[in-house]
Amino acid sequence: MIKPEIVSQLQKITGKEGVLTAKEDLNAYSYDGTTTWTHMPDVVVLPTTTEQISRVLKLANENKVPVTTRGAGTNVSGGSIPIKGGIVLCTVKMNKILDINKTNLTATVEPGVVLQNFNTALAKEGLFYPPDPQSFLGCTMGGTVAENAGGPYCVKYGVTKQYLLGLEVVLANGYVMKVGGVTVKNRTGYELVMLFTGSEGTLAVITKITVRLLPMPAASKTMMAVFDDMIAGGQAVSNIIGSGVVPAKSAFVDNFVIRRIEQMTPMGLPLDANALMLLMDDGNPAAVETDTQQIVDILKKSGAKEVKIAKDADEAAAYWKMRSAGFAAVFGAAHTVLAEDVAVPRDKLAEFIKKLGEISERTGFFIQYLGHAGDGNLHPSIFTDIRKEDEFARAQAAMGEIFRAALSLGGVLSGEHGIGLEKQRFLKEAMDPVALDLMKKIKGILDPNNILNPGKIWEEEGA
Ligand SMILES: Cc1cc2nc3c(=O)[nH]c(=O)nc-3n(C[C@H](O)[C@H](O)[C@H](O)COP(=O)(O)OP(=O)(O)OC[C@H]3O[C@@H](n4cnc5c(N)ncnc54)[C@H](O)[C@@H]3O)c2cc1C
Repeated sequence: MIKPEIVSQLQKITGKEGVLTAKEDLNAYSYDGTTTWTHMPDVVVLPTTTEQISRVLKLANENKVPVTTRGAGTNVSGGSIPIKGGIVLCTVKMNKILDINKTNLTATVEPGVVLQNFNTALAKEGLFYPPDPQSFLGCTMGGTVAENAGGPYCVKYGVTKQYLLGLEVVLANGYVMKVGGVTVKNRTGYELVMLFTGSEGTLAVITKITVRLLPMPAASKTMMAVFDDMIAGGQAVSNIIGSGVVPAKSAFVDNFVIRRIEQMTPMGLPLDANALMLLMDDGNPAAVETDTQQIVDILKKSGAKEVKIAKDADEAAAYWKMRSAGFAAVFGAAHTVLAEDVAVPRDKLAEFIKKLGEISERTGFFIQYLGHAGDGNLHPSIFTDIRKEDEFARAQAAMGEIFRAALSLGGVLSGEHGIGLEKQRFLKEAMDPVALDLMKKIKGILDPNNILNPGKIWEEEGA
């Protein structure tokens, strides 16, 4: 339990309006996008400036109070759960776009800027920031950096880390540090920007973010392909990329998601399709025409029963809305949803999907999946109920098999959601022990009192 005098000092730093202590308020910060983790903070702090964050961290560090940074809390790895109590430091009030520079193609934002708001502001200038986690309506820029998030656009454009030029971060002792800069090229010492990217709130609080931008592509076309067979769908993506065309976006959903979406928001999707694949090509109009034709030909040769090209921007937007509704469709499907996130090399996707079928048969759990596909990233989900101890343990063991299957194909434990609490018990199997030890040593240097998001990423000794 946090001492009342620390709460009073927090109130002095941010003003009383920036500190929440009522149980109902704390409850709203006790969970995230997972359905398995929850823990109450002792207090929530809503700072408005870097200086306030610096003072909060200095106070917390001197008193060894845990601090869990939170953006919108949409992560699905338990990352923003204050598992050790203490302070939740929520950045949503720091939501200013500080600069958009059309000549340099850069922008600087505060961490609480919502991704969709950022892209709306950029669109007015004919600009575009590609990393597009499908939580873009709510997730914050700080959260996307701390998770190194990516979405369907990553096939062609990459993920958050490919766009970061500079960061302002506040270290555990309150020191405000700038790393990187605003130039496109920068070869000054170690890549410290990357150190904080994907660090899940364990190394520092990110308070300013400078990113590079792209001009909005002049044209785009979206295609939807219907497959009888998920494995053929997976192979089709490899065939397209192998042919030398890299679509801007790609994603697919299975029959379960198609039916759930049609139940919740009817869109006229083909209910009998086993797999729907969405692809988008973008660039200059002439190139988009030829690429689209080539993609359609390969989809058909790879076994697509039907391929539709969206006739206009509205139809294309409806297809992609279906993809972004996929997670919501899955999460509402059971009391507890183990929704995972693994990535395999792109040319192993079909083999991985086959292995998922085998695991499902062996364990008796239905495995639902949706994914970005073109990047080898897939989200297999198992429906269970945490209240049924035995079933839940079996579901977790089945998930373990899924992780091991991905690793056996040269894949990784997380494509985008991070490790958080959710996957730490598998980390030892997925990482070189010396690399794991190096991570712990870096944490020890930057945060010797272990106040920043303690209990995350790796299992603590004896836990
Ligand atoms: C429906 C849905 C769809 C999703 N789709 C995708 C997807 O396609 N791709 C993808 O990558 N992810 C996806 N996610 C996961 C999630 O939205 C992303 O990880 C997102 O980047 C989290 O942003 P947030 O603002 O909600 O961060 P939070 O959930 O609040 O925090 C995430 C982590 O970052 C840390 N953190 C947050 N802000 C800061 C900061 N300023 N400084 C330091 N650490 C910080 C937190 O401590 C925590 O560890 C999805 C989630 C949902 C619910």
